[in-house]
Amino acid sequence: MPELPEVEVTRLSFAERIRGARVNAVRVGKPLRWPLGQTPERIVGETVGAVSRRGKYLWVALERGGLLMHLGMSGSLSFGPIAGEPGPHDHFDLVTTRGTLRLTDPRRFGAVVWSPAADADPAARLLAGLGLEPFDARFDGAYLHAALRRRRVAVKSALLGGAIVVGAGNIYACEALWEAEIDPRTRSDRISRPRADALAEAVRSTLARAVELGGSTLRNYRNAEGTAGAFQLKAKVYGRAGKPCVRCGTTIRRVVQGARATFFCPGCQRR
Ligand SMILES: [Zn+2]
Repeated sequence: MPELPEVEVTRLSFAERIRGARVNAVRVGKPLRWPLGQTPERIVGETVGAVSRRGKYLWVALERGGLLMHLGMSGSLSFGPIAGEPGPHDHFDLVTTRGTLRLTDPRRFGAVVWSPAADADPAARLLAGLGLEPFDARFDGAYLHAALRRRRVAVKSALLGGAIVVGAGNIYACEALWEAEIDPRTRSDRISRPRADALAEAVRSTLARAVELGGSTLRNYRNAEGTAGAFQLKAKVYGRAGKPCVRCGTTIRRVVQGARATFFCPGCQRR
């Protein structure tokens, strides 16, 4: 499932190249999670502006309105010269003077939704309720501490929810909690301010590193599929059950929290 770093890497892969391109055609394939909500004719002739990201959504600005895109469970976006006919899983093409932005999505949980503006419906409704961006200056220890105190759930679940900060998906939440030496099962309202400071920093640095690693993968594969390729996080705890912690040597444990696998070190991650 594409997480925030993969979506950001995808954005970086085409944002500059598509900016200023003119839309020649719009092809809509099989139904996605939500309908486009606009006729292709209305989009043809528009010039593409900036491509921005909010959570796992991309906003492709057009002159009048824009397209809000989501990769769902299995989607990927490619941008480049596309000669062949769309394959069975290619469900949306934005054909421009500089190449085709194509959404490939086998499971079709992804979406492309036209909206008159990013802060108007339907985009605004879809983006409502998202927490702060991890790289937003307002996302700091004070903010995180206050937000965690208002909840009484395991700290990992609070992060996963996305209402406090976006981007801390399962892998990244596990990694950030290891980095901050916090047991994922700790009740969120019992996290002290210094530990919240450490956790905010860990969330930010984990995601920044993931974008960086994904970016280097992308540069290598840009000419092949045009997709980000498999993101390879050099995980410290995620997926390492039974192996020694690289910080203290204790055996990494796997538990299930809210139907999601949690990996942590019982030696150096404290409640
Ligand atoms: Zn450890």
